[in-house]
Amino acid sequence: MRGVTRLHEIMSQINIPGTVRRDEPLKQHTTFRVGGPADLYIRPTDIPGLQRTIALLRSEQIPVLILGGGANVVVSDRGVRGAVIDTTGLSRISISDNTVRVEAGAMISDAAAETARQGLEGLEFLYSMPGTCGGAVWMNARCYGSSIDEVLDSVNYLNEASELCTLTAAHEEFDYKLSPFQLHDWTIVDAVFTLRYGNADELTKRMQEYYEDRCAKGHFMLPCAGSVFKNDRRFGAPSGKILDELGVRGMTCGGAKVSDLHANIIVNTGDATASDIRTLTHRLRDLVHTERGWELDPEILFIGDWAEDPHTST
Ligand SMILES: Cc1cc2nc3c(=O)[nH]c(=O)nc-3n(C[C@H](O)[C@H](O)[C@H](O)COP(=O)(O)OP(=O)(O)OC[C@H]3O[C@@H](n4cnc5c(N)ncnc54)[C@H](O)[C@@H]3O)c2cc1C
Repeated sequence: MRGVTRLHEIMSQINIPGTVRRDEPLKQHTTFRVGGPADLYIRPTDIPGLQRTIALLRSEQIPVLILGGGANVVVSDRGVRGAVIDTTGLSRISISDNTVRVEAGAMISDAAAETARQGLEGLEFLYSMPGTCGGAVWMNARCYGSSIDEVLDSVNYLNEASELCTLTAAHEEFDYKLSPFQLHDWTIVDAVFTLRYGNADELTKRMQEYYEDRCAKGHFMLPCAGSVFKNDRRFGAPSGKILDELGVRGMTCGGAKVSDLHANIIVNTGDATASDIRTLTHRLRDLVHTERGWELDPEILFIGDWAEDPHTST
């Protein structure tokens, strides 16, 4: 009861443009369409509001979880204790010559489309990949042979003391699906990319091909979060191929199912719980370990309150 009163008090102090709610169901904010409620859900629409909110929550020692497009996460069925800050209200994209500044909550695919329209080349490989700019930088998103750090110039972020800082992107600090942001409790505010001058028609054609390829792989047929496991060069084949050889397509756990079209994608067939997805992920990992002796590393992130989840078996 004291906790509820305290959260109400804190809510009343968050006077920012945007949305502030209690017990927001997070399944509405994730591409898997699973996840229980956030105790406190805040969606600021400007950077000062984001900064003030994070500073307040930290000073009150409320745990803060940053959510972008929810395209790489499985939120626990019990939800998230503390506060979730949804960045999608920070969605400005500003272009000047061949430089583009993208706010953390802008969809990275929108940034790709917008820059390509202006004949700027470098982000087009991310067209139609779900999620925000902040999420893509955090994960160093990679597809079609390129990673986002290849065009990343600098990132503005809030550090642990909620101060606005700038990181100049040093590419040796990034690696396959790794960024410095995974090592710190920092909030990405916006990112600056330096692009090349190119041909708008050619870029549009390439983006259409990427989109069609994703459609053919069933990316948009059922709720999912893309690849379940990262690839690992030491295993000599992509995780999808390793899983395919073990015949996992169609394997189910409750409403979660390994896609019929791609062995490294789990889909929500309609009534999957987060626990179903986690159990199926563990079964795939264990199968590969038993049959091949390799430990696959999950790419999807299991976030929120998983403590003693009675429904998850490993
Ligand atoms: C159909 C489909 C296809 C996909 N294909 C690809 C692909 O080809 N390549 C690829 O790399 N990924 C792919 N993904 C995964 C996903 O699109 C990317 O990981 C994307 O970058 C996630 O962005 P997001 O905004 O949804 O992040 P979220 O899922 O919301 O968050 C992911 C992590 O980033 C952190 N984060 C997000 N924003 C911030 C911020 N502003 N500051 C600090 N931390 C932050 C979160 O706390 C969390 O830890 C795919 C997903 C789907 C659903």
